[in-house]
Formats: sequence, structure tokens, C-alpha cells
Amino acid sequence: MADPARTSSGSIDVLPPHLIDQIAAGEVIERPASVVKELIENAIDAAATQIDVEIEGAGSKQMRVVDNGVGMTPADVVLAIQRHATSKIRSLDDLSSIMTFGFRGEALAAVGSVSHLEIVSRPRGVEAALLKFWEGGVPIEERTLGAPTGTAVTVRHLFYNTPARREYLRAPTTESKRLIETVTDFACVHHRIGFTLTVDGKPLLRLAPADTMRPRLVDLFGTKTAEALIDFSGGDAELGVSGFAGKPELARTTRDRILIYVNSRRVGSPSIAHAATAAYGETIPRGRFPFAIVCVNVNPRRVDVNVHPTKREVRFASGRAIYDLTHYSINKSIFASSRTAPVMSLDNGEGAGPAGAGHTFPGTAMPRPPSAVGTAPERDAALRLAMPTPHVERGGEGATADAESSPVSQFTPQAAVADGVSNLWQFNDVYIAAVVGDELWIIDQHTAHERIQYEALLKRMDERSADSQQLLFPESIELEPQVWPVFEESQELLVALGFQVREFGARTVLLEGVPVGLRVKNPVTLFRRVVEDIEIARKAGEDLRKAAAMSTACRSSVMAGDRLKPAEMQALFSGLMHTENPFSCPHGRPTMVKIPIADFDRRFCRK
Ligand code: ADP
Ligand code: MG
Repeated sequence: MADPARTSSGSIDVLPPHLIDQIAAGEVIERPASVVKELIENAIDAAATQIDVEIEGAGSKQMRVVDNGVGMTPADVVLAIQRHATSKIRSLDDLSSIMTFGFRGEALAAVGSVSHLEIVSRPRGVEAALLKFWEGGVPIEERTLGAPTGTAVTVRHLFYNTPARREYLRAPTTESKRLIETVTDFACVHHRIGFTLTVDGKPLLRLAPADTMRPRLVDLFGTKTAEALIDFSGGDAELGVSGFAGKPELARTTRDRILIYVNSRRVGSPSIAHAATAAYGETIPRGRFPFAIVCVNVNPRRVDVNVHPTKREVRFASGRAIYDLTHYSINKSIFASSRTAPVMSLDNGEGAGPAGAGHTFPGTAMPRPPSAVGTAPERDAALRLAMPTPHVERGGEGATADAESSPVSQFTPQAAVADGVSNLWQFNDVYIAAVVGDELWIIDQHTAHERIQYEALLKRMDERSADSQQLLFPESIELEPQVWPVFEESQELLVALGFQVREFGARTVLLEGVPVGLRVKNPVTLFRRVVEDIEIARKAGEDLRKAAAMSTACRSSVMAGDRLKPAEMQALFSGLMHTENPFSCPHGRPTMVKIPIADFDRRFCRK
């Protein structure tokens, strides 16, 4: 039963405005870092190019944010701290195209209601600045004074009138850490804005404005880390993803270096974080997470930032597309940056490896037995996947020191060696193995075939030398209404690939031939799949020519589970060796790994 003393007395009163603000403040202002976040957002919204942040006493004593933005007239300063006072939206319609950080008009009101607030502001063209003080939202004093254009907001004694909030604060070091992170979160993507951060009188950050993000990353994370960051991008103006993906060696045990931004707003998104992690495939071990900065740029109409008062969460109209685009863009750049075959080591980690970790099974110091090669992924984690190790063929012609810096030129002598290899064998109906020089090479038959076909198809398209294999019985295919325009648009590409296809009445096409030399089990399915894939690529803003070749290659390649004849294995092996990039399929999955025979010797105690 309810405690009678706690039940309502029956008469209804409207709460006084100050109490309303204090209650609302609980939602927006949780801790000192929330104040600094709101103040920096206001400065950025005011088009500042320089933002200086000062913090004292982990934010409890004082926080000040000074900007050189547009400033406020005296009348605006008075309005600014009123609840629901904003210059950023005028109608509900504006909300769907909002590009500013603020729009709810409640941050300053909330901050003011739980602190001693001081604002000094001067807009361009006005001679003097207005300085105004409030205590708990109640105006105390104001005067004019000389000041540069822009705004300086100072917040003292946060939560002085809400003891419960104050109690709830964590240790000063924790609050300070959050404050610093808040500043660096903004500084990371707002590279054109200069930032300084001073903590208890000591300058902690001094970030000069930069035209691109990279110098800012050097300032924030150090040269060494910044060098291991690879940029990626994909998509279009409607929906784009770009950012920096750390090489696998930067992987860490927590997700706290996966920074996600949506239209320059730092957000939490388990789905995008998952996409970023998954994009690394097996290049980082399970339970580790990449260093990645993911910036999603999306038409504001397709994202709802008004899900939560602090706007830390957002809701997308096209979450799946963002997931796919993030995954694809990061995956592509990670694998493109490693144009060498991964060297799989059988060592138990005594030797130094880039990841510094030779994985053994938990609770045992026993290394994995070599029979684990190419089996279940969790067991693969036991094998260190050291990538990308430049590997120079011993004794191969042209294996010069200079070859180390160019994985492609280094590969040429390998191709020559590979041509002489004849002892190939298939296992699991998936992998082809061969001893090449002093290494055991293992090739994934599907990704390898994909790579070969992809390059061949691209070449045909470039040289306009498409050739078709006539179908004995032309097939008429009815396309769904929404697929029809995709077909019309991509007809030229399809013909360039070698599809013989023409319109045949309303929404129907006649397929008379498919590209020559492919493994086509069902020409109609192949055709439909390729059209579908082109549509997906078009939505993601990818190169359609490449996407069409990639799709055709993928859909007509040898599959896992196909048993191969020796001649087929031979063709696959040497075909792969003569491609331009033999080490990954067009989607970025590896085509081969190498294991040095010396590793076996060590394992069998021969050395
Ligand atoms: P919101 O940002 O949601 O509009 P705020 O309470 O944060 O709400 O700010 C209220 C208004 O005060 C803003 O709309 C803006 O007009 C003005 N303002 C606040 N901070 C600044 C600043 N640093 N420079 C210029 N104007 C500001
Ligand atoms: Mg604001």
C-alpha cells in the first residue's frame, strides 16, 4: 500500500518555472561534461572558428567556453536562458532538416537553473558587450563592458542547489576524463575549428585549425597511431560514410575507440559499431575491437535526432543501408591497404608479432596443433594471422630490398615460381594447397576464382571485347515493376559484360546469351542476381561498372563444396597468380594465406 503521507493532497498546482527548469535540467545536464557539450555545441552553431575551454575543479568549481562566433544582442542574451527560447527552428518543418546541434532551446535554461551562470556576448556591429549573471536562473546583475565579438559562457558551482545531483557525481578524475573526452570528441571531426583546453590553469590541448582531418588526428592521437589509420569512404550525398579505420594492430579490448558521428554529432550506435568491427573479418581476433572513426553523413530528413534530450541516440530511416555501407567501405580499405598475402604463423607467439599476441587456448600454455589449419574460425584464432608481412621470395629473381616497399613488384618473381608448381591438392572441397618454394600456400577456391573472373570481366569491358555464349533456348524473363528501370538503366553495362539481352514487350526481356567462359548453372538466376546487385550498388553510390563485374564474377564462380579436377585446380592456381591483385577477392576477402615451412620445422623441433 502507498504511504499516505506520500500520496497527492488532491489539489493541483502548476509548477513554478524555476522548478520546471530544474526538473528538465535533470534530463539534459547529468554532469559537468554535459554542460561543456552543450556550450561547445552552441559555439559551433554560432559559426565559431576558435573555441577555448577552461575547466577548474573537475568542472564543479568552474567551466568556461569562449567562442568567436556571431554573438548575441543584449535582448537575445536575456531570451537565451529562457526555456524553449531558440534561434534555430521556427516550425516543426524545420526540425526535419535541422543541421545545427541545438534546436530545443533548453540547454542554457537548464544549465542556468542549477548553477551560477555568467554570459558575456557581443555581436558584430554592436559596440559594447553585455555581461549578465544569474543564480539558479534568477537574474542578479548586468552591465556593459568592452569585449571581442563572440560569446563567453561561464558556469560556476554546478548543482549548488541540487545536492542529490552533486552526490551522484563520480570521483573528480572520472569527471575530468569525461570533460576532456567531450572536447576531443568535437575536436576530432571539427578540424577547421581551433580548440584549446585548459585544465586547472594548465594548457592540455592546443589544436590549430586544419583543412583536413588527418593533421587533427595526429594532434589528438599522436603520429604513430595516425600513421596506422587508413581513410575510407563510400556512398553519396544522400547517404555517405567516411572516416578512418585503424590497421588491425591498433585493435583493443574495448569498444571505446570506435567513434561514431552522424552529421558531425557524436552518437552511440551499437549497430554501426558492429558493422565497423565485422568489417575486419578475421584480421582482428575475437573479443577485440578496432580503432575506427566512422562519420555518417545523411540527409537530415532521414535521421531523427530528437529521440533523446541529449541527442546521444539517433534513429535512422535506413539503418540497414548504413550498416552495409559502413561494413563495405571499411572492409574495402582495410584489405586494399594490405596487398600482400597474409602470412599465417604456426608459432605459439614466442616470437614478436605485430599484434604482440600469439594466441593459445585459455587456461593452457599448449600451442595449437598444426592440424587446425583452415578449420573452424574460433580455432583459427589460435593461429596468428600476421598481416601484412612483406614477404620476399628467397632466391627469386628481382627480390631486391626495394621490393619490400612494393608488394606488387615483389609478387612478380612469385608468379614465375608459381607457374612451375604442379603438385596441387584440394581439401574440404574448399581449399587448394601447394608447396611453393619454402612455403605452404593455401588458396580459397571461391574467392580466388572470383578475383580471376572479376579482372577478366573488367578488362573485357575496358576493351569492349565482350563475348557471349549463346543460349540454346533464349529465355524470356519478366522483371518486377520496380526492377524494370534498373534494367533499362544498366542495359549497356550488361551488354558490355557479355549478356545478350533485349527488351521484349512490357517488363519482359529476352536473354539470348551470357558472358563467355563463366560457370553458369542457371542463366536466368545469374541475370536476375546481377541486376539486383547493380541496384544495391547504385543505392550505395558505388562504381556501377565495378559492381556489375563483381556481381557477375561472384555469381558464376566455383563455390565452396565444388570438387575440382587437377586441371581445374591448375587453371585456378596459375590464373590467380597472374591477376593484378592476387591476394583478395573484389569484396576484400583474402584469397590465400602462406605458412612458412620453417614454422613446421620449428614445431617439429627440427630447428
Ligand atoms: P538551442 O541551442 O537548442 O537553441 P540553447 O539553450 O542552447 O538552445 O541556446 C539558446 C539560444 O541562445 C540559441 O538558440 C542561440 O540563439 C543563443 N546562443 C546560445 N549560445 C550562444 C553562443 N555561444 N553564441 C551565439 N548565440 C548563442
Ligand atoms: Mg544549444
